[in-house]
Amino acid sequence: MATNGAPSATKRSLGSEPERRPPSRDGNKLAASLADRIVADIAELGWPEGRVLGSESDLLQRYGISRAVFREAARLVELQHVARMRRGPGGGLIVAAPSVDAIVDVVSVYLYFVGANVDELFEARIAVESAAAALAPDRLEERWIERIRALVERERTRECEDHREFHRLVASVSGNPAIELFVELLNRATYLFLAPRTPMSARVINESAQAHAAIASAVLAGNGGLASSRMRKHLDAEGTFLRRRRVAPAGLADLPQIGRTTKLPEVTARKIFDEVVERGWPVGELLGSGPDLMARYGVSRGVLREAVRLLEYLQIARMRRGPGGGLFVTAPGVEATTEAIALHVERNEITPSQLFEVRTAVEMAVLDRVLDLPDDAVAPRLHEALAAERAASRAEFVTVGHDLHRVLAEVSGNHVLQLLTQVLVTLTRRRATAPDDAVDRVPAADITLVHSGLVDAIVQGDRALARLRARQHLVALERWVR
Ligand SMILES: [Zn+2]
Ligand SMILES: [Zn+2]
Repeated sequence: MATNGAPSATKRSLGSEPERRPPSRDGNKLAASLADRIVADIAELGWPEGRVLGSESDLLQRYGISRAVFREAARLVELQHVARMRRGPGGGLIVAAPSVDAIVDVVSVYLYFVGANVDELFEARIAVESAAAALAPDRLEERWIERIRALVERERTRECEDHREFHRLVASVSGNPAIELFVELLNRATYLFLAPRTPMSARVINESAQAHAAIASAVLAGNGGLASSRMRKHLDAEGTFLRRRRVAPAGLADLPQIGRTTKLPEVTARKIFDEVVERGWPVGELLGSGPDLMARYGVSRGVLREAVRLLEYLQIARMRRGPGGGLFVTAPGVEATTEAIALHVERNEITPSQLFEVRTAVEMAVLDRVLDLPDDAVAPRLHEALAAERAASRAEFVTVGHDLHRVLAEVSGNHVLQLLTQVLVTLTRRRATAPDDAVDRVPAADITLVHSGLVDAIVQGDRALARLRARQHLVALERWVR
């Protein structure tokens, strides 16, 4: 299933990423651009949760659009968890509470499509969470000490059996909301796929409580190195445990959950998603015309339209209007995840430095993986990327100049690390290349020199040198972005 879609997804995402937010993922361009405008207006107001932006008729007037376009746009911002419509008196479009649900769905669908497996998810978790544990001691505040001790105690007495709580806490102590986001996302993605089949035994819960206590004591003792290596070991053990418990060890065999309610449109979207998967995710194939689908799933036009909106948002299928139109299967791409995360980054005022901290953890994990691969699998790809970089014009360099990072992630063969690298490169780059005149300021020759130094070290298999050069390069890039 996933394998036949993988190559196209990889190819699509390489170097073809749009500079800016794609104008429309939806057939209805007007509604999509109105949705973007609503998001921008809410951002301007400072995301005032719970505030009524206006009644439907207020907003129709303010934006000067038709009711149909407005309703479509309102649904789009609902999907992004930015605002929701409340009917009745005092109702209207209301700023919603932030939620990572929308991002979790997008990430899970993408990972399922490209055929990521549990090991890849755990490897990414190890990269981000061991970085969080390493940073935690230096950023410990008084309020955290009590929280950590209390949680360790609640786990010891089995009062708390939610494994994720401890991981969330360590992420919070790291003081970096970008780390918090990615820890939560990867954690949720893991359990989305695994939860139904993996009830934890008392022994496992006990072992994990002990591992958590050991990590906590290293954090409280101010030993970041120890906290980090204990986190790594703990997640390794957990990954091994879950892998053994799996019925189908190869991939993420369980369908990710899309949508969370029992409302008819979401249920219908899940059924259509099942059908797409059952058919082997045939990208480009027609699932049926609107009337066909209404009959097949026994739903009204309105319900189908809402189901389609969710499927389009997750890039599972897309409705083409007009003669010969209908619902067509699409390939989920990296952009949907990038945009969902970009919104969260903006909303939570996550800084470029905070993003860079995650990016560094992810790219160092990529590098370690690449260094473990045989040279002939790696060298030609890296040299090819360098050649493209050298041949790029100044204007092209703005895009091509970052390809080596993407190529390394692709070569690493870990779909999760690859997704995270692409998202983080794009998001950190947006800050760096915002003004057009920045093109002239990009030190292209310097960057290419640094990149070729890194490639040399990798090809020679000199791990220490490669790691050092990569780290120095990321530090330099971060200064450039700030
Ligand atoms: Zn744990
Ligand atoms: Zn670079």
